[in-house]
Amino acid sequence: VSREWKAESTRVRLPGGLTIGGEEVIVMAGPCSVESERQILAAARTVRESGATVLRAGAFKPRSSPYSFQGLGRAGLELLARAREETGLLIVTEAMDAEGMAAVVELADIVQIGARNMQNYSLLKLAGRIQKPVLLKRGLSATIQELLLSAEYILAEGNPNVVLCERGVRGFDPATRNLLDLSAIPVVHGLSHLPIIADPSHGTGHRDMVMPMAKAAVAAGADGLLVEVHPTPDRALSDGAQSLYPEQFDRLMKEVRLIAEAIGRRVAEPAEIRA
Ligand code: PEP
Ligand code: MN
Repeated sequence: VSREWKAESTRVRLPGGLTIGGEEVIVMAGPCSVESERQILAAARTVRESGATVLRAGAFKPRSSPYSFQGLGRAGLELLARAREETGLLIVTEAMDAEGMAAVVELADIVQIGARNMQNYSLLKLAGRIQKPVLLKRGLSATIQELLLSAEYILAEGNPNVVLCERGVRGFDPATRNLLDLSAIPVVHGLSHLPIIADPSHGTGHRDMVMPMAKAAVAAGADGLLVEVHPTPDRALSDGAQSLYPEQFDRLMKEVRLIAEAIGRRVAEPAEIRA
């Protein structure tokens, strides 16, 4: 994954002509979890309307408590397929284990490996043998070097299409859920040819901090954003407090377009708008 080995930046190609790691900033948005058909379709329509190109939502959820909502599993993947059919959005969703990987790889356009699995080396090796791009999130207490070595596991197995994600590391202050390490973006860009996006939702834990940190991440050179948006955050089954209201996300997209433009980039638009 190092620039010593490959000097030019990797561009991860997605269906529909999108590329992560080029001039465009890719915005992935949606709820933390797939909760119901109604919820995921409403979420997909609203983020698509505001200009997102990838729908995020978990069907297999890594929850801190075993008594919290664990996700809809395979049924959730089917609902994501329906949302893609209706909106044309690409899908990023998490695989937590080998069985989940087999199911997720069938459906997803990007397979997510969550923070808690960043050092699950057998899962990383499996991700290296699939034909889909992988979104690898930084572990809760992982150094940048450890993140890059985890990505190395995937590339070493033959999958060059890895996108890294800064999502905050454990801090000491409960005022933020995590400490979103935006300096990781230029550090990774210096050390590695791989693209890196930012997740200001898990990085901060509070919706009021998501907008400023999303803009800061793009200004710092992030190749994309992963943002939680829910049609009715107050009723979300997971991560409601950090989920944006649809109107907040709409405003965020407008502001992020301006930031991207200011640094010579642009936000990728849905196909119909691009054409
Ligand atoms: C997520 O993005 O759905 C998620 C669970 O995030 P993380 O793995 O970063 O906690
Ligand atoms: Mn979440």
